[in-house]
Amino acid sequence: MTAKTMDELVALCKRRGFIFQSGEIYGGLQGMYDYGPLGVELKNNLKRAWWNAMVYENDNIEGLDAAILSNPLVLKHSGHEDTFSDPMVDCKSCQARWRADLVEDSKCPACKSTDLTDPRPFNLMFKTSVGPVDDGKSFAYLRPETAQQIFTNFKNVVDSTAKSLPFGIAQIGKAFRNEITPRNFIFRVREFEQMELEFFVVPGTDEEWHNKWVKSRVNWWEDQGVPESSLELYEVPGDELAHYSKRTVDIMYKFPHGVEELEGIANRTDFDLGSHTKNQDELEISADVMPNKASNSKLAIQDIETKKWVVPYVIEPSAGVDRGILAILNESYEVQELDSGKERTVLHLKPHLSPIKAAVIPLKKNNEDLVKTASDLKKALQKLNLGRVVLENSGNIGKSYRRHDEIGTPLCITIDFDTLEDGSATIRDRDSMKQERVSLDLIPEYLTKVINS
Ligand code: ATP
Repeated sequence: MTAKTMDELVALCKRRGFIFQSGEIYGGLQGMYDYGPLGVELKNNLKRAWWNAMVYENDNIEGLDAAILSNPLVLKHSGHEDTFSDPMVDCKSCQARWRADLVEDSKCPACKSTDLTDPRPFNLMFKTSVGPVDDGKSFAYLRPETAQQIFTNFKNVVDSTAKSLPFGIAQIGKAFRNEITPRNFIFRVREFEQMELEFFVVPGTDEEWHNKWVKSRVNWWEDQGVPESSLELYEVPGDELAHYSKRTVDIMYKFPHGVEELEGIANRTDFDLGSHTKNQDELEISADVMPNKASNSKLAIQDIETKKWVVPYVIEPSAGVDRGILAILNESYEVQELDSGKERTVLHLKPHLSPIKAAVIPLKKNNEDLVKTASDLKKALQKLNLGRVVLENSGNIGKSYRRHDEIGTPLCITIDFDTLEDGSATIRDRDSMKQERVSLDLIPEYLTKVINS
């Protein structure tokens, strides 16, 4: 299984309506993609699976949905204004700009000129003006990670939910980075979504929690159909660590273009809470933080027994939604040679991720009795709230099967003339292509079982 090339996935995504180039009718905008009718379902299902695993399965994890535009002071004190940059070089010959690590043998990758500038830092944050007058002074950043608003809301969440350590705050949302070289479809884009957990722990227990989260995240990806055998753990070397990190383990996946990061799990220590806190001198902060005269809040938690204020350490599993979608599409993609000599393209998506859970197909197009029975069944299945169920009134069973195989629909249910007599329908399984006859009133239970399997 898996696609042979990225192009196969790109073509499927466009053909079937998963992902389109953004602003395509005007030539597109580099590093931006739009999710189509099936893409939005797949994406929502993946985000829901993460939210369930984090927030609903753990009573010590709360959710958050914070603003995207960020007060510059937040990103100043988080260290992003000074350090969130990639070194890059300009080609003086063709004016192309490259990330320094992509330039081999000091030659411009485009025109091969060796007339290049020295590497210079390029800040990756997008800025926008706020308010009616663009005077350059009132601006905000589009957040480069969702994490900072979790830190700045730390006290709000603690005070409103009465949490004690260890506990976490989870958030899913857009992040923006002005990547110098967006590439490889939705792998490296300028606008993307992250699923981030900030898990606050007692200092000293951080290393143990870090290892626990690495294991737990690998297991979660397995549950989404990305097997451990396609993943590698990468211990980020000291000189490549982000400015806030004591240790980072990246979960790497074999994307069609190579092995690259799918999720990063960082030990951010007490750097962020310490950085955003007032009266830093009164607290024990181990990280090297910038003095903060602007914050009016103490981002610490009081130990119930000793009454001492503690600045927690933070373990952060940070996963990219878009990279997750790419990995899942790649893992589930298969082109099969059938005995008939024909090819069948199938997405073996885990049923909970499938954009469409079941297609109900009347054998004959526009036949009143068949369509009415199919429509009643569709309504009953839709009410189960398992995800989208469609009525496929095309009259072409073969074509419907092919389409639903290719978009990963687990079950196709055909309503034929026997259904009108015996009250049962034919259910075809996407993966085995086996068909079985099931009584209409048992189909809701059948579908529920398949989707929750
Ligand atoms: P990379 O080294 O590939 O640039 P990173 O280490 O900068 O990634 P993090 O800051 O750890 O990435 O962000 C956490 C997650 O957010 C990544 O594991 C990835 O899934 C996602 N992500 C980061 N940058 C992008 C991007 N430009 N496009 C799509 N997803 C991204």
